[in-house]
Amino acid sequence: MKRIRALDEETVNKIAAGEVIERPASVVKELVENSIDAGAHKVLIEVRDGGKSFIKVTDDGSGIDPDDLPLAFQKHTTSKISGAQDLETIGTLGFRGEALASIASVSEAVEVRTKTRDALSGSYLRIENGKVAETKEVGSPVGTSIVVWNLFSNVPARRKHLKGREAKLVHIIDVITELAIIHYDIAFELFSGSRTHFKSARSNSWDDILSRIFGLKAVAGMAPLQASGRGWRIEGMIGDAFNLRASPDRIFIFVNGRAVSSRPMAGALREAYRNIIPPGKSPIAVLSLEISPDLVDVNVHPAKREIRLLHENEICSAVTQEAALTLSSYAKSVASERLK
Ligand code: ADP
Ligand code: MG
Repeated sequence: MKRIRALDEETVNKIAAGEVIERPASVVKELVENSIDAGAHKVLIEVRDGGKSFIKVTDDGSGIDPDDLPLAFQKHTTSKISGAQDLETIGTLGFRGEALASIASVSEAVEVRTKTRDALSGSYLRIENGKVAETKEVGSPVGTSIVVWNLFSNVPARRKHLKGREAKLVHIIDVITELAIIHYDIAFELFSGSRTHFKSARSNSWDDILSRIFGLKAVAGMAPLQASGRGWRIEGMIGDAFNLRASPDRIFIFVNGRAVSSRPMAGALREAYRNIIPPGKSPIAVLSLEISPDLVDVNVHPAKREIRLLHENEICSAVTQEAALTLSSYAKSVASERLK
C-alpha cells in the first residue's frame, strides 16, 4: 500500500486548471470575460490552429496596475471581490481569481502587455511554464493584451485529446457569439489566419447583433418577450414559426449576464410552439433572465455553465405563457395584414 502525501503546488495547479480550461475555447472565454469586466468597448481575438498554438486577446479596458500584474497570475487573486460577503452580489463575470493562474500553468508561455490610464508607461510580463520569466516597461495603449502560447504543451494527456474536435474554431466562435449577444454594447472581432470569422459593432440594442447571427429576414420576424415575478425579470426576443432551426442550440439563455444551458427554460419556450411547428424543429430566441443573486447559485461549477435557480417552475411557466401570447398576437397581426 502506498503512503498518502501532499502534492506539490505545480501538480495541484495543473489538476485545478483542468477544471476551468478544457480546451482553447475555454481560454478565449476567460480572457474575453476579463476584458468585459475591465470595461472594454472593443475586444479583438486572434487565434492560430484553433487556438492550440496561439491565442491573443486585446482590449481597451482599464488595464492592470504595474504592481498588481504579477499578482494577477497567482491562484485565488482577484480585484473583483474581497470576501465571501461579496459572493451574494457578484456583478462581474469573474470572481474566482483562478483563470489566469490556470491558463499560465497549462501553457508553454503567457505574455501580457498592459497599461492603465494613470500609469506613465505600459508593463510587460512573460510567464513560462507557470513561472515569471521576464518583466519590463514597454510602450502600450491603455488596455490589456494577453497572448497564450502552445496550450497544454506541458499536459500531454490534454494535448492528445486536442487532436480531435476540441480544438475547432467553431467552439471559439460559439463562445464569442454568446458574449457578443449579451454584451451588444461592446465590439468584438475574431480572426484566424487572415480571415475574420466574427465581427460585431457597438450597438445600443439587440437588433444589430441578432441580424448578424440569425440573418435580417429571421430577425424581422422576432418579437420581444417580457416576463417578471418576485425577484426576477426576463427580457428576450423570440422568433416566429417560420424561421426555425433543426437543433435547439439557437436558443440563447443568459442568467445575470452569463450564458447558461438551461434545459428547463429552453423546454418551456419550445412548449409554446409545440402545436405550430413541426417536431424536431426549434425556434430561434434569446432569453435574458435578471434574477436576485440570492435566488441563483453561480458557484456550482468553475466553468459556470450550470446554475441552480430557485423559482424555476414559476419562471418556466411564465416563459411558456408569455411566448404563447406573443405568438398568438403575432399570428393575429399577420392575419389582419392579409385581410387588408
Ligand atoms: P478573476 O477574473 O476571477 O478575478 P482572473 O484570473 O481571470 O480572475 O484575473 C485575475 C485579475 O487580473 C482580475 O481580477 C483583474 O484584476 C486582472 N485582469 C485580468 N485580465 C484583465 C484585463 N483584460 N484587464 C484588466 N484587468 C485584468
Ligand atoms: Mg477572470
